[in-house]
Amino acid sequence: MDYSALLAELAAEVRPLLGQGRVADYIPLLARADPSRFGLAMADLEGGLCGTGDDQESFSIQSISKVFALALTLPHLGEPLWRRVGKEPSGNPFNSLVQLEYERGLPRNPFINAGALVVTDALLSLTGDACGTVLAFLRAQAGPGQVAVDEDIAESEWQHRDRNAALAHFMKSFGNLHNPVDEVLRHYFRQCAIRMNCRQLARAGLFLANHGLCPDGRRLLTRSQAKQINAIMLTCGTYDAAGEFAYRVGLPCKSGVGGGILAIIPNRMALATWSPGLDAQGNSLAGLAVLDHFTTRTGLSIF
Ligand code: GLU
Repeated sequence: MDYSALLAELAAEVRPLLGQGRVADYIPLLARADPSRFGLAMADLEGGLCGTGDDQESFSIQSISKVFALALTLPHLGEPLWRRVGKEPSGNPFNSLVQLEYERGLPRNPFINAGALVVTDALLSLTGDACGTVLAFLRAQAGPGQVAVDEDIAESEWQHRDRNAALAHFMKSFGNLHNPVDEVLRHYFRQCAIRMNCRQLARAGLFLANHGLCPDGRRLLTRSQAKQINAIMLTCGTYDAAGEFAYRVGLPCKSGVGGGILAIIPNRMALATWSPGLDAQGNSLAGLAVLDHFTTRTGLSIF
């Protein structure tokens, strides 16, 4: 199949949605994003790589970084990681505090902020540099072009850190953060503030389509761990819209408030899309639509 032509066709189909939705405004720098931008790329296990639109424009990956942090932590800790963080959908906003209280500092899953903070804390204990570990992995896997932390965005997150700091302190009070709160927050914000483009993101996600094996031959995850992360992406990767994503797209996906979405087609390819206009659940409006069209047209969903 000529994926390059297909991606361009699908991009044209979702063009009427561009400019709709709301860009994330919880920090001023993200609020400046232009909602009319749109990029889409795919990387497959045969080495194919193509894209359309703003697919070579870098954007803030935000919560998509949580997938990579988890994938870099799980192989070291294995099952005991799940004693510190759950793997069930939360049904609450990504930065919610309420469930943490009645679950005694144990976050519902690694993709809500509380869970991601625990993973960052674990990675920090393991490596001494959580953000640096994520960044080095992305640089090694992403292919040509720059992958870097946007220090202005990281600083802005730090300036507006109250909610994430509250989550972190609360978990620390239950002994579920081992490093100093401020250090964990700094690593978490810098990791979220990594910028890369759709082509790079699709390539970097390929190991999840290939049972944990990276294109350069490195085995990051066991087959079983790759299955587990894909499953958590499917059930928890898209804020409160995991049901809607499973229904419309039918793929493990992880989205971020910067408007990016990484989608995995096991045994085949990874897709990455970026468009900053978000729907009410915080997922990219055009991104969700284009992934829906892709799986509907190709039949390449997991169902
Ligand atoms: N850095 C953001 C936060 O923690 C990530 C939000 C997201 O993409 O879900 O608030």
